[in-house]
Amino acid sequence: MTTRRTLLQSATAAIALSLAGPMTAFSSEPMPVVATFSILGNMVERVGGEHVMVTTLVGPDGDAHVYQPTPADARAVSGAELLFVNGLEFEGWIDRLAEASDFDGVRVVSTDGVEAIAFAEGDEHHEEHEGEEHAEHDDHEEHEGEEHAEHDDHEEHKGEEHAEHDDHKEHEGEEHAEHDEHDKHEGEEHADHDHHGHHHGAFDPHAWQNLANGVIYAGNIAEALAAADPDNAESYRANADAFIAEMKALDAEVLALMTALPESSRTVVTSHDAFGYFSARYGLTFEAPVGMSTESEASAADVAAIITQIRKEGISAVFVESITDNRLLQQIANETGAAIGGTLYSDALSGADGPAATYLDMMRYNATTLAQALGS
Ligand code: ZN
Repeated sequence: MTTRRTLLQSATAAIALSLAGPMTAFSSEPMPVVATFSILGNMVERVGGEHVMVTTLVGPDGDAHVYQPTPADARAVSGAELLFVNGLEFEGWIDRLAEASDFDGVRVVSTDGVEAIAFAEGDEHHEEHEGEEHAEHDDHEEHEGEEHAEHDDHEEHKGEEHAEHDDHKEHEGEEHAEHDEHDKHEGEEHADHDHHGHHHGAFDPHAWQNLANGVIYAGNIAEALAAADPDNAESYRANADAFIAEMKALDAEVLALMTALPESSRTVVTSHDAFGYFSARYGLTFEAPVGMSTESEASAADVAAIITQIRKEGISAVFVESITDNRLLQQIANETGAAIGGTLYSDALSGADGPAATYLDMMRYNATTLAQALGS
């Protein structure tokens, strides 16, 4: 209970009561916290329960990769005790927002302790040193071998991936020209490019796509809430335990669904490369015409490479994503005769009436959508 409330009550008890109800209402007033995107927001709601009031910045069907914070976001962050972020450079805009909001609470990196999937180093080198390609292969021969062992499915597409990076470099100007709605923020995007030199961070940020990582998120959320609000620590931990039990049960379900699929139909195409953690855990292979951030756009070479691969490997279904423009995927499906297998929820939940309104619903829906499309 704050001093301000005490003063208010003692000075004008009648008004305070009429405005805010009886004393007990004060002690159970929920703690204001912010989560950057809908999937994380749902996790914080589950763990926080009645003791926490969650404001989510990037809502259902929103794309956090290219989000532009609003003045309302700044107000929410300014009044928050805790700011839950995914980390792994998913929210490229969060530092500026926190600074602009004079945020003086605690920032919680929900992926702390997750085993992050790194970008293949070869891709980074080639992006920066196109001409040195052959020399690099020699220098890193041992390392390349390890990389192939880890990413068998990508081995034969290394050439295509390199082409993709090259093309992105050349088409940066076009990309920005196409995103008229983002005109205001061009300067910020360029600042990011200058700082990092790439569209993406060093790691794949989509860690939530593995339910075993969801368990880590929930643990981090519970401990952060408990530290900020020790009176309700037991409640947060109990909520997290219940949530984690559901995650573990669903993890086993998804694993069973995916391992039951025929070996020959375990490669699928999605809009952007958001399912690396799903793939590592559940055994499917995901290919995408663009990389791990929706900031980049597929080039003609990217699209041609995907089309060639779909034909060569007999990939039967491509999946659209709720957060991305799916015209390209539709075009790829038309050209190859591959069916649209359904919609996958990668980086955002659906609306409350949709099939992926919670984290658990999203993971279940994605798995059943994949299983139905690939099953027979
Ligand atoms: Zn993404």
